[in-house]
Amino acid sequence: MNQSAAAPIQAFIEGTSRPGAGAELPVIDPTSGRQIATLREDSAADVDRAVAAACRAFARSDWPRLGIAARQEMLLRLHDAILAHVPELAELECAALGVPMRDLLGMHLPRAAYNFRFFAEFIGQACGDVYDQTDGYRSLVLREPVGVAALIAPWNAPCALASMKIAAALAFGNTCVLKPSEQTPLALARLVEILHEAGLPPGVVNLVNGRGAVTGAALVDHPGVDLVSFTGGTETGRAIMAAAGRRLVPCTMELGGKSANIVFASADYDRALDAALAAIFANNGQQCLAGSRILVEKPIAERFIADFTDRTRRIRIGDPRDTETELGPLASAAQRARVLGYAKGAPAEGLTLLTGGGVPAGLPDRLAGGFFVEPVAALAPDNTARACREEIFGPFVTIQVFDGYDDAIGRANDTDFGLVSYVWSDHLPTVERATRDLRSGVVWVNTTMTRELRAPFGGYRNSGVGREGGEACQQFYTEAKTVTIPSRPTTSRRFGAG
Ligand code: NDP
Repeated sequence: MNQSAAAPIQAFIEGTSRPGAGAELPVIDPTSGRQIATLREDSAADVDRAVAAACRAFARSDWPRLGIAARQEMLLRLHDAILAHVPELAELECAALGVPMRDLLGMHLPRAAYNFRFFAEFIGQACGDVYDQTDGYRSLVLREPVGVAALIAPWNAPCALASMKIAAALAFGNTCVLKPSEQTPLALARLVEILHEAGLPPGVVNLVNGRGAVTGAALVDHPGVDLVSFTGGTETGRAIMAAAGRRLVPCTMELGGKSANIVFASADYDRALDAALAAIFANNGQQCLAGSRILVEKPIAERFIADFTDRTRRIRIGDPRDTETELGPLASAAQRARVLGYAKGAPAEGLTLLTGGGVPAGLPDRLAGGFFVEPVAALAPDNTARACREEIFGPFVTIQVFDGYDDAIGRANDTDFGLVSYVWSDHLPTVERATRDLRSGVVWVNTTMTRELRAPFGGYRNSGVGREGGEACQQFYTEAKTVTIPSRPTTSRRFGAG
């Protein structure tokens, strides 16, 4: 039953792998540009089968009614099972995504496992509310699973992101149907099998595959779906939320970003430089929380720009399986064309290209068909250019020079997005002020990409609606039921008693 990179990828419904009725779609290895697998797209009828299975499991299986200890035990078992398969999953993820293996082995897959442990521990500590301010009454707030969750995940970190959604949905007693991106279905298909091999009851987690407009839209529109948790692009999020809104289905939307990385002159220079590079070039530059707009303060700007450009030129581009590689291929030909297009258009929009923006020369022949790109750094006078306003979602950073605190905050907040802001300064009053003035769901001070799972994660404005995290997920994946009980017998108005 193993879905390997060579076998067709298909749906997994009620514990069984089954081919979809839709088109056959190629899965491409971005490192070579070659097809490595075929995906059987799931039609609306297949989606209907998956949702029906999740509905049955919600209505009839033990899962929503399990005691916390039993649910924790299962979540911990799933954690262990994923950990035991990290190399296999990393290989599959790398094959379709091209992110360096050392990131997949060191971060993505351990995080995928940890998400299950995190929620197992969280539900052991979660508690509810009691209100006794109304004399003679006590009201308890019970939290109950909502039902069937549609989980829609993007291609840039398939296992790490989808596992958070699966673990959260399960921890609070829901069942679910997962739809990964059709570009990167390999590792998640195997992960879902692994969950079942570890003993997850059939129907609790179901998997469908296919394009967003076909399989994804059928899932969101399905009347059996009670919740939608989406991570992806802003425009897709808008369409999904509109569709879900017609049925009043609650959604969380983790969307794009155009995050400012502010480097004040009072920063620890070396740390800020290292972190600025990591914030934009990690994960091949394809991350929602990328620090894609560097704002550097005038007194250190010349040195910072020179050092940043030099380091960017020296980034090791290559096969993601090589341990030396820092930047692998972009995930698709379209993604590479997008980055190259922004680089080409940059000078006409007033940007100065400092480095990159071409296809790297000198790669070995076996990588000739891969979607490699030279990482781009460009100097921008302000935020007007498209490269400063639109999410590129690749290794492309713009650098602006600012003059003083107000200028920095003004430039940082001059965006339609609001996911993350980075602040680099060792001057406490500056840090204090900035954390209050920045309009984003997350502010990272003197650090980069430190995700605290207990705390809410999500964005302002076009970066999203709702949050993910311990308590935020509890709110989303449960219905609140208020039970009011009098402390002594009550007397009602005696209608019809004369
Ligand atoms: P997309 O919005 O294109 O797709 C995301 C998912 O939605 C995919 O599974 C896609 O399927 C599916 N989809 C597309 N259209 C529909 C539809 N009409 N109905 C239902 N599902 C649909 O995003 P990408 O996959 O390109 O991911 C990149 C985006 O994700 C970036 O904007 C990035 O910022 C954002 N992101 C946000 C994060 C956050 O936490 N805020 C984290 C990571 C990424 P398919 O691809 O198969 O067509």
